[in-house]
Amino acid sequence: MSAPTTAFEDSGGTTWTTLAEEATFLAALDAYSAHVTVTQVGTSVNGLPLRLVTVADGTPARWALVVAQQHGAEVSGREAALQFARDLADEPDLGGTGWLFLPTMNPDGFGFGTGGSRENANGVNINRDHIPLSQPETRVIAQVIRDYAPVLVVDAHEGQNIAADYATSGTYNPNTHPGIRDLADELEDVAWDAILGTGRTVERYQGGNIVGPEYLHTHAALRHAVAILLETRRSPGNDSAPPPARRVMLHMAALTAIRDWHVANTAAVDAAAAASRAAVSTTAPFVMATGTAAEPWPEIAPRPLGYNLTSGQQAAIATHRSLFDIDTSLEGSAHRALLDQAAGPLLPYLLDSTSSLAVVSATRYNGETPAPLPPIGVAKSWRINVGSGSVTPLAVKLGTDAGTVTVWP
Ligand SMILES: [Zn+2]
Repeated sequence: MSAPTTAFEDSGGTTWTTLAEEATFLAALDAYSAHVTVTQVGTSVNGLPLRLVTVADGTPARWALVVAQQHGAEVSGREAALQFARDLADEPDLGGTGWLFLPTMNPDGFGFGTGGSRENANGVNINRDHIPLSQPETRVIAQVIRDYAPVLVVDAHEGQNIAADYATSGTYNPNTHPGIRDLADELEDVAWDAILGTGRTVERYQGGNIVGPEYLHTHAALRHAVAILLETRRSPGNDSAPPPARRVMLHMAALTAIRDWHVANTAAVDAAAAASRAAVSTTAPFVMATGTAAEPWPEIAPRPLGYNLTSGQQAAIATHRSLFDIDTSLEGSAHRALLDQAAGPLLPYLLDSTSSLAVVSATRYNGETPAPLPPIGVAKSWRINVGSGSVTPLAVKLGTDAGTVTVWP
């Protein structure tokens, strides 16, 4: 039995794989390889399946995640993800890393040329929804990140505002752990070398300005993964330019180089992910960098220790607490979420009143406020001078109930 091929490959790179053909291909891949498991992990707004493909040899020591087609008409990353999963399935030794693929994250918007939409069926751009989690598609991605804690995340797109043949965006959010940022810089260089090695050109997507955690790759970095966004250029209104085969080839070149880099740097990536997850205690101001905003970004200073939530707010973020793995504790009548936890870097975005992405506006917690001083004197009885109308305290109780001093004049 030979490994299955995609409909795109069968067409010589001229016709995209349809959703029905993808389902057939994945079922064949699952049957073909003991390393491959295909499961439905959710449904789109319109009820279409969202499938997760795992390629793993035994129980992996760590996971890498490839997401494609968050934007409906950006289909070359999806083709590359399907092919790349198949190629990995044929490898006898995966080096302890399991690979996860979410190849078709926006099936409702799926289409080519004028047939697809950037948004999902609710009209939402899901690659701006990774803090709000307002859509079923983004909740599935958050769930996979929670359940597998990938140390490497790749998000594949196609862009219409790119001058070069290819573009990348690394990990630029200033709240990202420095160890993750350094490796993400290195990874971006690796992807560039791979594209340049094909004879094509590459640039930084959007001038290297994407900092907001509403984007998947930035979000994944705050969740302790070395992460990168990949974009092939696609001509506006012309789905066949540049040629589909070239666009898929460029994504394959980048994915192959990223995978080779990961094999060579597994220990460093594991260490950075563990350090990022653990090293959450800091006094540095929190930097409220969102979207593609340029510096200077607003800061929260001093950095809060956490947030106090009302019961209503606690209920309103129940989904986020689960999918982001947020710990809270009941302190008096407040539900308190401390920044000193693995989900800490997400909390100001989710909870602070100054965040444009906030789901609730919780109260910053800066430590216990000191208890008020006890009263220093309470009169217990008085002499009333009827003649003058004056009132004179006769006995004064000092201090707290635990230790009182009574003074008689
Ligand atoms: Zn896109």
